[in-house]
Amino acid sequence: MSAPIRPVMAGNWKMNHGPTETARFFAEFLAVSRPRDDRSVVFFPPAISFAAAREAIAGRPDILLGVQNVYWEAGGAFTGELSVGMAADAGASLVLVGHSERRWVFGETTEETVRKVRAVLDAGLVPVLCVGEKIEERRAGREQAVVEAQLAPVIEDVSLDEARSLVIAYEPVWAIGTGVVATPADAGAMHRFIRRALAEHYGHETGDAIPILYGGSVKPDNAAELLSVDDVDGVLVGGASLDPHGFARICAAG
Ligand code: PEP
Repeated sequence: MSAPIRPVMAGNWKMNHGPTETARFFAEFLAVSRPRDDRSVVFFPPAISFAAAREAIAGRPDILLGVQNVYWEAGGAFTGELSVGMAADAGASLVLVGHSERRWVFGETTEETVRKVRAVLDAGLVPVLCVGEKIEERRAGREQAVVEAQLAPVIEDVSLDEARSLVIAYEPVWAIGTGVVATPADAGAMHRFIRRALAEHYGHETGDAIPILYGGSVKPDNAAELLSVDDVDGVLVGGASLDPHGFARICAAG
């Protein structure tokens, strides 16, 4: 599958909204969020709520679903993990890879993100590779070096053809769940840096077409400003995607 059309409005529910709450969320969200063909809306519910989400959006082909994490093996004795084949079978189109909570709470390494992106692409799904620096790295002026170190090994492994299915999310760790949002200038500078790296590697035609999402304390009242920044092709929203009315406002922004 190719990357969804831009802008991409994505909600990452993390470990929130079980199946009952998921059904309740969509009953409210679908009542206030009309389908639009000028953007994509994506939800990443917890795996246990995926079936409830899929059932709820049955009449809305404009809404895509993804999973928050996968393991690269096809199956077997890996308690607690999901394979990409299972995610595809359940109806997932996208997979988050390398979210900062996976990296910094669960110790996921960049080498592991490379293997996960490979498995996701081999299954025909779209990986959303999350990259971003910690506050001490930004204070030390190392934010671009950190993001480059997370991005480069992945794009080394992804062919020109496969890059049409790639999505990048810039999520500064210090902005996730903190209420501290990157300024449009800081977000713009990093998105430009990522765009340049993609265009240098894949050429402009493909590199410029890869959606680069911003994530980190996006709310209904700051989404439009962030979306107006050059090279910000959508948003990845955590906390504010849990509220159906607030997330519907974000999906309508820009
Ligand atoms: C996220 O989980 O990807 C995220 C950006 O969280 P929040 O919007 O709550 O900062």
